[in-house]
Amino acid sequence: PIQGLADRVVAVFVPAVLVVAALTFLTWLILGGPQGLSHALVNTVAVLIIACPCAMGLATPTSVMVGTGRAASLGILFRSGAALEALHRADVIALDKTGTLTLGRPELTDLILTGPQDRAATLTLIAAAERGSEHPVAQAIVNAARADGLTLPDAQDFRALPGEGIEATVDGRRVQVGSDRLMTRLGLDVTALQAHTDALADLGRTPLYAAVDGHLIAALAVADPIKPGSLEAVQFMQASGQQVVIVTGDHARTAQAVARQLGITDVRAEVHPAQKSAAVRELQASGRRVAFVGDGINDAPALAQADVGVAIGTGTDVAAETAGVILMSGDLRGVPNAVALSRATLNNIRGNLFWAFAYNVLLIPVAAGVLEPAFGLRLNPVLAAAAMGLSSVFVLSNALRLRGFRPPLSGTSND
Ligand code: ADP
Ligand code: MG
Repeated sequence: PIQGLADRVVAVFVPAVLVVAALTFLTWLILGGPQGLSHALVNTVAVLIIACPCAMGLATPTSVMVGTGRAASLGILFRSGAALEALHRADVIALDKTGTLTLGRPELTDLILTGPQDRAATLTLIAAAERGSEHPVAQAIVNAARADGLTLPDAQDFRALPGEGIEATVDGRRVQVGSDRLMTRLGLDVTALQAHTDALADLGRTPLYAAVDGHLIAALAVADPIKPGSLEAVQFMQASGQQVVIVTGDHARTAQAVARQLGITDVRAEVHPAQKSAAVRELQASGRRVAFVGDGINDAPALAQADVGVAIGTGTDVAAETAGVILMSGDLRGVPNAVALSRATLNNIRGNLFWAFAYNVLLIPVAAGVLEPAFGLRLNPVLAAAAMGLSSVFVLSNALRLRGFRPPLSGTSND
């Protein structure tokens, strides 16, 4: 978009320069006395040379190129100049929880049985059913069963219920595992376990329930630790005036507990995967610009809906494909660093455009010979050519300063 601004300026600038050149020629020809024709020719050529808007044309692409190059060395991939430009304007940073704020590698921490069943047999049933799911929660459960040395039978009729859980048949028994919403939808009453699971959710763990043949048999909880850099990143973004919001499919209490640990007050929890982009649209409603940061398949629509999507590089390919910015490391501190780099690049472009333009505005009258009658000062076309080249050198050198950009939050970069 900012290149568009330069193009619009140039679209006016070029005809204006041609008019000025024509006027210069006519003025000197008519008023220049005996040497009018030679003055007219020399000054007109000087105007045309000095006005060559190559510095203006270079202003944006050089900064974008150096800026994205510096970003890459910091592990931030801008997939387009537009993303680089959009990021610095984001007033709302919406974050997915699992895999973005947290490691995305949860562990099974609790298994509460409703009756006197065998613990190992119950875990075997649940883990066997979960084996067909690629969700991190499922992996946590399967890993726990493996760690206990359990052998998992094959499951049939596996079905993933997006944003809710899964169901499958194991040893002829119908197993359903998922959130309290799923259980409620299945007509199962979870209140008997609610005191337990609420306490677990308040610790930031995700509570789940398991039902076999239509009977609630267990509650489980998985814990997903917060990533090391998340707190620092969130605090930095809030201190720079950005509103930080969590948008997650997880249980509301779990999301609240994680938000509390990070100092985030705005939480949209239990958002169905299909609703994540609607949540972003809602945040955009008041004209605010939203950056969405996510890692999962279910984040892709939200990444596409946001003004700029930021994908965590350790996440899924779909998320990376949809986003305009990719953070190579999973570290969330890459977000404020990317915002700062975007801001630095835009300032650099504005500086370039200003100097490229100011330079033309100042030197065109000199080239036209405005100072000649009073001061005898005129711009030789050779000097004009040198000065014109110098303005491009100036713009390039200014753009190259971006290579020295220092990210505000360190510990994430390679240098
Ligand atoms: P997010 O990735 O934001 O945590 P999802 O929409 O993927 O959210 O999942 C929302 C919720 O659905 C999970 O917190 C969990 O309660 C439940 N769920 C999803 N997949 C599974 C699964 N394979 N097994 C059990 N529960 C699941
Ligand atoms: Mg996620």
